[in-house]
Amino acid sequence: MREQVTHPTDPLAEPPLRVVDVAVVGAGPAGMAAAVAAAEAGAGVVLLDAGGQLGGQYWRHPAEAGPDPHGGRGCERGGHGSGPDEHEHGSDEPEPDGPEPDGHGHHGWATFLDLRARIGAAARTGTLEHRPWTSVWLAERDGDLFRLRTTPVPEAPPPHPSPRGDVLARRLVLAPGAYDRQLPVPGWDLPGVVTAGGAQALLKGSGVLVGRRVVVAGTGPFLLPVAAGLADGGAHVVALCEAADPRRWARHAGTALRQGTKLAEAAGYAVRLARHRVRPRTRTVVTEILGTDRVTGARLARVDAAGAVTGPATAVAADSVALGWGFTPQLELPLMLGAATAIGADGSLVVRVDPAQRASVPGLYVAGEATGVGGAALAVAEGHVAGRAAAGAPPDPARRREVLNHRAFARAMHAVYPVPAAWPAWPAGETLVCRCEEVSAATLRTACHDLGADDPRAARSLARVGMGRCQGRVCGWAAASLLAAETGRDLTDDDLLASSRRPLAAHVPLGTLAGLDTAADQEGSTP
Ligand SMILES: Cc1cc2nc3c(=O)[nH]c(=O)nc-3n(C[C@H](O)[C@H](O)[C@H](O)COP(=O)(O)OP(=O)(O)OC[C@H]3O[C@@H](n4cnc5c(N)ncnc54)[C@H](O)[C@@H]3O)c2cc1C
Repeated sequence: MREQVTHPTDPLAEPPLRVVDVAVVGAGPAGMAAAVAAAEAGAGVVLLDAGGQLGGQYWRHPAEAGPDPHGGRGCERGGHGSGPDEHEHGSDEPEPDGPEPDGHGHHGWATFLDLRARIGAAARTGTLEHRPWTSVWLAERDGDLFRLRTTPVPEAPPPHPSPRGDVLARRLVLAPGAYDRQLPVPGWDLPGVVTAGGAQALLKGSGVLVGRRVVVAGTGPFLLPVAAGLADGGAHVVALCEAADPRRWARHAGTALRQGTKLAEAAGYAVRLARHRVRPRTRTVVTEILGTDRVTGARLARVDAAGAVTGPATAVAADSVALGWGFTPQLELPLMLGAATAIGADGSLVVRVDPAQRASVPGLYVAGEATGVGGAALAVAEGHVAGRAAAGAPPDPARRREVLNHRAFARAMHAVYPVPAAWPAWPAGETLVCRCEEVSAATLRTACHDLGADDPRAARSLARVGMGRCQGRVCGWAAASLLAAETGRDLTDDDLLASSRRPLAAHVPLGTLAGLDTAADQEGSTP
């Protein structure tokens, strides 16, 4: 790996640090592609991820029990049967170190195996180093370089990664993915309510069903694999509620038809759901989740195009509810570095990038969900573009065209499956908006109208919304959007910035914080 060694001023503080050409944070579809593209263009690369294996949220593997991320050592087969994607293994080289991760239920598995093999090959030549189980909790400028402060995740199996694993890099690619977006509804704080992504992660990661009788609700095509996966796994999907009307795709038929793979995927889910007699209910939302100690059911109601409830609610019995309203990009690291943002096609805050995936900060590239939620294929294409650009290689026009095509599809998807404009009317007064700090919708409305807290910053100070353990990761978007609705204005970039900035990108032991050098303390970049 091409690198130089720097010696910090205080030799007792840290061991000498290597400077790598390109650091990539996130080993999901975007980060894997970026690392491969940069390494194959001749750059020395360090690829960091909090997870133990390559793949991110999309190519999530069964229980991460072992230290070898390239061969899947320690991967336990999740008890799934054989799936069609399992036979796409041809592009990978033999992996002597352990069993293959289970490809069942994964789309684009051949792409994953190809990227993983190329990462393995680059690692063997010393061009690329993959550091699994490593959280990047702070990103800062260090002269012309980027300094990433890292810590091993608590789940890391021994041997533990170095607790003082700072990385210095000339250029940085951030591909940190997204969180599930949630909208508060009465009863969503009951045990048995999970995010749609959480239900999927439990199933893919641990082979665990979130419940036996499950309601899946929200909006977007992601609800389909969640419901199909639960049904295949043996759960009774009592209701699959889609707030939008998918017939709106007719207005975007040209864009949809150009994405044959995605249409085929959707058809596949429809067949699986039909096999389990699950018929999606469109223009239907969960208006209340029932139960006292845990979920016992849900009330479902029809809504109009704006999301206003149009009829009486009907109750269904269920032991769990999986809610998904799309995703919110995970922007702590780009925001720490001062990257410029915008509101994306789905109403989320996204990092602004140019055609080479360059952010507004020199040397910083961003790829995947952080630039706008659009699925794994878009993330891979953006990763390739970002990796090549970060390595100083000329652009690949074919990859750029892929980005544009997938982005066009993502825009159409968000137009078909918007967050319903009328949702702020759903939470009753006592409904919690911020579950960590137990801030209800009534408290937030009072803070807004009586105390003048009409933006997230003021609401944070006056009502403590987003001040708890999750630091607004769960409630930030909803609280900002509720406040905007209460004050009769559109959600702004500034609103979302206020609820997306966090001093730390990940949990970090106090001992690591205590060991920070004084220069960083003086700059105020520590909490
Ligand atoms: C919970 C969840 C479940 C999903 N399930 C599906 C699905 O089943 N089917 C589907 O089509 N789409 C699914 N999606 C959407 C899909 O995962 C994305 O389109 C795709 O994964 C985007 O790729 P990415 O590389 O941008 O991000 P991701 O795949 O999310 O990868 C981001 C990676 O960055 C790492 N990371 C983030 N922050 C840090 C940090 N500070 N330090 C170190 N590492 C960090 C994470 O560990 C992760 O591995 C899911 C999304 C989520 C959030």
